[in-house]
Amino acid sequence: MKTMKKFALGAVLALSANAALAQGYPARPITMIVPFAAGGPTDVIARIVGESMSKTLGQPIIIENVAGAGGTTGITRAAKAAADGYTIAMGHMGTHGAAAGLYPNMGYNPQTDFAPIGLAAGTPIVIVTRKDLPVKDFKEFAAYAKANEKTINNANAGNGSVSHITCVLLHDMLKIDPNAIPYRGTGPAVADLISGKVDYICDQIVSVSAQISGGTIKGLAIATPSRSPSLPNVPTTTESGLPGYQVSAWNAVFAPKGTPADITKKLNDALVTAVTDPATRKKLEGLGGVVPDAKGASPEALAALVKSENERWVPLLKAKVKP
Ligand code: ASP
Repeated sequence: MKTMKKFALGAVLALSANAALAQGYPARPITMIVPFAAGGPTDVIARIVGESMSKTLGQPIIIENVAGAGGTTGITRAAKAAADGYTIAMGHMGTHGAAAGLYPNMGYNPQTDFAPIGLAAGTPIVIVTRKDLPVKDFKEFAAYAKANEKTINNANAGNGSVSHITCVLLHDMLKIDPNAIPYRGTGPAVADLISGKVDYICDQIVSVSAQISGGTIKGLAIATPSRSPSLPNVPTTTESGLPGYQVSAWNAVFAPKGTPADITKKLNDALVTAVTDPATRKKLEGLGGVVPDAKGASPEALAALVKSENERWVPLLKAKVKP
């Protein structure tokens, strides 16, 4: 009896401590871990969405780029951070969908170690090349890549990143196995694409659309059923003769598991305010991002997405990528 009482009192104290924590939240700046280098798609989305969320929450959101191991280094850090709402992360289709298929000893379980906050933006995949690669469209690229399989260079953001896994799919369809060069994010990879050090990337649209429009790199094909309004001159993979290559990534906000519900609610409210705010939507859509509505940005929708993406990618990568 005594133990029961003690236990009940302990639970009440813990609950009220949580409530007190949530009440004043946020009382200081929040760190948002971006698990890739600055300038890449996850960083771009985190900065745009973070700016709006910080206005709603009344505290700065500081972006911390913790790159390495295809994004799993930064996400491991986020999973192990104090569950107090002051450390959150921008994860994506790689870190929370695919990586479990490539890292047997990964430091987190994408489905159980997080409190999902919500989806920030969908990011169609675009196949981009250096501007002087001698191909004028995707069909020519496919033939060139096959003929030059031993020398052509594919840049990516490390094993399990979106640029890695989506090019694994592409290579499988084209029946090629080119040399892959890993970076700490596609931000620096695109910088090397612009200067001609690497030949091509399967990248998320938001960090390459401006370069494609500016002519510093070539956008050969977008892997969605229809063209993106932000890149009206880039044909789809269907138009380019590879209709089976359809792939769009996503970026989403996560808090560590155990973050009090009042705090995750405040974070989700701020995220929903961001994705439904016309100015923020315009920025993301202008770069080619596909922005969710309030329902699409709910924690429940994100939990379901992580589960279905694990089910889709993990067996596929185990079958297709040699350890
Ligand atoms: N999202 C990564 C980045 O921001 C790139 C990737 O996953 O391919 O650099």
